[in-house]
Amino acid sequence: MAKQTPMMKQYLNIKKSYKDAFLFFRLGDFYELFFEDAIQAARELEITLTKRDSNSPNPVPMCGVPYHSAENYIKILIEKGYKVAICEQVEDPKTAKGVVKREVIQLITPGTVMEKAMLNEKENNYIASLSHFDSSYVIVYSDLSTGENQLALIEHGWDGVIHELYNQPIKEIVVSSKLPEELQKQLKSRLHVTLSYQDEVTFNAEYRSLCENIDDERLLTAFSRILNYVQHTQKRSLDHMQQAQVIALQHHLSLDMYSKRNLELTETLMKKEKYGSLLWVLDKTVTAMGSRMLKKWLERPLLNAQEIEKRLQIVEGFYAQFMERDAIRETLKSVYDLERLAGRIAFGNVNARDLQQLKSSLQRIPVLKQLLQQFSQPELYKLADQLYIEPKIIDILEASIVDDPPISIKEGGIIKDGYNEQLDTYRDASRNGKQWIAELEQKEKQATGIKSLKIGYNRVFGYYIEVTKANLHLLPEGRYERKQTLTNAERYITPELKEKEQLILEAEEKSVELEYQLFIGIREQIKVFIPELQRLAEQVSYVDVLQGFATVSESNNYVRPTFDKQKLEIKQSRHPVIEQVMDDGTFVPNDITLDAQNHILLITGPNMSGKSTYMRQLALTVIMGQIGCFVPCESAQLLIFDQIFTRIGAADDLVAGQSTFMVEMLEANHAITNATEQSLILFDEIGRGTSTYDGMALAQAIIEYIHNHIQAKTLFSTHYHELTDLANTLSHLKNVHVRAEEHEGNVVFLHQIKEGPADESYGIHVAKLANLPNSLITRASEILKELEGNMEAKSEVKVKAEQAASVEGTGQLSFFTEEEKLVSKHKSQYEKVVQELKDIDLFALTPLEAMNMLYQLQKKARK
Ligand code: ADP
Ligand code: MG
Repeated sequence: MAKQTPMMKQYLNIKKSYKDAFLFFRLGDFYELFFEDAIQAARELEITLTKRDSNSPNPVPMCGVPYHSAENYIKILIEKGYKVAICEQVEDPKTAKGVVKREVIQLITPGTVMEKAMLNEKENNYIASLSHFDSSYVIVYSDLSTGENQLALIEHGWDGVIHELYNQPIKEIVVSSKLPEELQKQLKSRLHVTLSYQDEVTFNAEYRSLCENIDDERLLTAFSRILNYVQHTQKRSLDHMQQAQVIALQHHLSLDMYSKRNLELTETLMKKEKYGSLLWVLDKTVTAMGSRMLKKWLERPLLNAQEIEKRLQIVEGFYAQFMERDAIRETLKSVYDLERLAGRIAFGNVNARDLQQLKSSLQRIPVLKQLLQQFSQPELYKLADQLYIEPKIIDILEASIVDDPPISIKEGGIIKDGYNEQLDTYRDASRNGKQWIAELEQKEKQATGIKSLKIGYNRVFGYYIEVTKANLHLLPEGRYERKQTLTNAERYITPELKEKEQLILEAEEKSVELEYQLFIGIREQIKVFIPELQRLAEQVSYVDVLQGFATVSESNNYVRPTFDKQKLEIKQSRHPVIEQVMDDGTFVPNDITLDAQNHILLITGPNMSGKSTYMRQLALTVIMGQIGCFVPCESAQLLIFDQIFTRIGAADDLVAGQSTFMVEMLEANHAITNATEQSLILFDEIGRGTSTYDGMALAQAIIEYIHNHIQAKTLFSTHYHELTDLANTLSHLKNVHVRAEEHEGNVVFLHQIKEGPADESYGIHVAKLANLPNSLITRASEILKELEGNMEAKSEVKVKAEQAASVEGTGQLSFFTEEEKLVSKHKSQYEKVVQELKDIDLFALTPLEAMNMLYQLQKKARK
């Protein structure tokens, strides 16, 4: 490589420490990128790739973005999961000797962004850390934008880790560089997060106040990993970090990865959108903080009956008083995101407008309190009691910040008159100076008789007196000093004017500088109250989520559930999401009962009749109940479930390289190994991904296993009719079916759940509804008849064989051994299949017919 310039040497030196980030290297008004960074950034950002020293034999690839619009480019890179190191000039270029000193002042990573534009306001932005100990893992979630820290100890091995992390809004995970490659790969591919490394995990005494409540060494080590990482990379105050909360996973309804995904709690399976998820239906919160809290609740429903009842009680209170609730919603509309405001105050990136918003939000709190006191529900009154805001914060802001400040904090105009004496003096000086100039203008107009004479200002020449050319003859020679000539005017100055100008500019410059200093001071004063603000944010979010529950419960006709230890009984249950997307009143409600006597429901019925819907609506109802929301039905007596397991739908986990059937079996295994008597299992058409007998055998064995060993409440839907016979042998299994009626050769779905097994499979009718060609449908009907014929014939053969066997048993001589009999049977079968194969006229067949034929042949060959 050619000899490096000193600046390039400096670049390479800095880049060494930031290998996994784009290094934004400040050069004048641009951030420049070089080498590989430049090539990749040019591609990702769609900007032009150029060369530095293009005449040299080895020109360096280079691209750049203007300093003032850098934020947009950084945002793009961060959203794609990259990191960006911001390298600034840290000394004044004018006074620097040699190359200007440069340093990385911040490493922006997906998990550490604080800029409003890069955050989704309705979602947390977690950076997580993962630490491995002998038989356990610890996960730490931190949200730098809100200051939250949560710790979870996972005892169930690696699987437990993935299930826990799945679906959390994590952007980045900090791990040890020694975490096995394979596990690192899984984190990346399954969770789509940026990986970062931090090996230094010694506990820094500075962190003590954040974890006084913790003494488990593992938790402390894990917490240190993330704090060390953040401190090393962010180089900023972390004053708003809140005390770590240990999430007691055993106190929450546990939803494994499959259930979170299959039940579409916060996003839909296919499109990954909020629209169509349970969150979409339930989110009637007004504030972004409330929306974030709701999402967290959905991920971790409660187990404690008392806590659930407390929430329900509050919802009932809100439900009962519509007018007051509406007033609360109105009030909440003017409460800004206190949590993130607090975060930005600590980080030092709030402006005067943010503080103004903080003030107006805080001023709404007493109103909120008063409104809460108007409810007759005592629980709501208690909430009001707790709602407290330190009046001093409002006082500080009220005294200092003007009502409508500009965005910039460096150009003045943000501090109120009367807040600071010195500032007032500067402002007076500037105002007086301006006043003097206005008077001068009047005076000179009169003295010269030039009516259009005016005094103006521009940045280059400062204040000047302007006289149009037409009036020049009126101006006495030598009255002013000429400064500038325009096409139709002359501009002049006087020594007096310049003197005043000096005073005004000096006062303005000083006042702008002072305003900035004062602003920083105010920010520091408010910083002291960050814990107060965070507590308040939590209380406001709590009110917001629960008023939201009441609002949605009222508009969608939900009822308050009760809880029981033995029996679950839901009358006229509905699916909360599907009923919303269907026309009013078209969703058919159904009852669901599960108790110790009948803990497995085997659901049969044609395709498209509503089996999956019925199962999901139970799970969603259970979750809604356990987060403290009313539920979609006429009445509900629920059980408190400890875990929900699902096997629903055929979503291939292709990213992780697993086929549908494998996923199916993994999900089934996960349920069977972890479920307890208090769990809810939903198995939807399990065994479908493999051949008929295989699948049926597995399905039956799984049901028997649950029935005999786990006794979890289970809904099991199947298209294998044969399984309905299980009710004869398994005493706690009950058959139900979804009713469908045949009407003039078409099937009519009634979506009604009835007791007993279904009598027919209506697959072909569904195909007809899907508009498959008539000839194909007819052919399928024929094949079905044939197959059914075969089955009957087969059972006749079986009966005859049995009769024969019993005859043999009576002493008649048999000419063949059992083995020989089998061989000869296979042989004739083999010959038959070969003959049929030979007879096929391939070119007379459609592909579908060929498939059918092949199916038949294979079946015969396997007999
Ligand atoms: P299955 O699992 O039996 O194949 P689904 O549960 O997927 O059937 O339901 C198929 C469609 O039938 C749903 O998308 C929905 O539109 C409709 N459906 C299901 N249950 C009901 C119901 N209770 N009331 C009205 N429509 C329903
Ligand atoms: Mg289904």
